[in-house]
Amino acid sequence: MSDEQDAELLEATISDWQHGATLASQIGWDENEDSKYGLQKLAYSDVREETRLGSQHAILATHQAASALTGVRELKDKGRKVSCPEFTSPTIKYDANTLTLFEDNTVSLTTIESRVRCELALPEDEGGYQYQFLNDDEWSVTESTLTARDGDYFLHLGFRKPNPFDKQESPAEDRTVLGVDLGIQRLAVTSTAHFESGKKLVHDHDQFEHVRGGLQQTGTQSAHRTIVGRETREERYSRDKLHRVSNAIIEEAVEHECSHIVFEDLSYIRDRMPNAKKLHQWAHRKLIQFVTYKAEARGIRIEFVDAAYTSQRCSECGHTSRGNRPVQSHFECVKCEKTLHADYNAAKNIGWRFVRRGLNDSRRTGNSQLALKSGTVTPNRGFIPYSIAR
Ligand SMILES: [Zn+2]
Repeated sequence: MSDEQDAELLEATISDWQHGATLASQIGWDENEDSKYGLQKLAYSDVREETRLGSQHAILATHQAASALTGVRELKDKGRKVSCPEFTSPTIKYDANTLTLFEDNTVSLTTIESRVRCELALPEDEGGYQYQFLNDDEWSVTESTLTARDGDYFLHLGFRKPNPFDKQESPAEDRTVLGVDLGIQRLAVTSTAHFESGKKLVHDHDQFEHVRGGLQQTGTQSAHRTIVGRETREERYSRDKLHRVSNAIIEEAVEHECSHIVFEDLSYIRDRMPNAKKLHQWAHRKLIQFVTYKAEARGIRIEFVDAAYTSQRCSECGHTSRGNRPVQSHFECVKCEKTLHADYNAAKNIGWRFVRRGLNDSRRTGNSQLALKSGTVTPNRGFIPYSIAR
């Protein structure tokens, strides 16, 4: 953030956003309304009156409240005790109407008063893939998130390609979906039961911390230089590893003829693993970025789902319960007694959620199916083994 005044404006905008989204949530809760446009109609004028948010941010705040209420309703339907969602995290949504990217790598953001213009601090050593999105007219900004943390602002930019070079998905097109769960012990697990370990990443990083700790105590000039050298090697190691894992995910998708790779929304990964080290947050972000541009080259689409309760839901019978997961790595359904690896179960649920989303979209007429190890499963036709499906 270049300037203190801009920071204050963003701070105030986030605060009004929290207030506005919480207010909309309260209205939806009272009126039993959790559809985006239904709640927008009900709550928009109150949000405008009670906050300094502009029209577009007021709309976005009602939409965010609606999706939180939908999550809560799903829980309630399962018999869980729920309460009205509140918005307290220092986060605000932006979209193409509220932010503008410029060619000089600055971004202008709507606030409660004038727009502020900030520089984008892009990492320079990523093979230029951010520039691929930023400098390519074919990509346009879609829903993005600004988060305030320790005086800095992090902008998670969402990009969309309205006219991809490969064929545009038609509503009648069949989808085959690969679900991917990201974690720590298992860096990535697919719905087709491909497992990628994250252990080496953890181990090497711990070792690195240890070495660095030792060197810093000596405090000499040469020791300092050694730290820098090691850090670079460490980062290079992690990046190579993430390239290998992303290639494996792409191969898995190609092998199973998948049209879509589906991850859980990154903000959910953070909520689910509050103790995940910075390294893992970085690794997950990076992995998704690598998979995204490699998938693009293959004409495979990347999608994200709200992954609430994907770790507690049984991928076999759909029963959702906290009791389904007695220990971290193990899933055992209390209803149908199915046991399987917890991350594998989650990967299937993540893919399935996207398959279901297609089913609920009235414009879609094509079939959606989830790729599993031994076959595919569709909402209408059930499980089809690969020997018959192909
Ligand atoms: Zn079950």
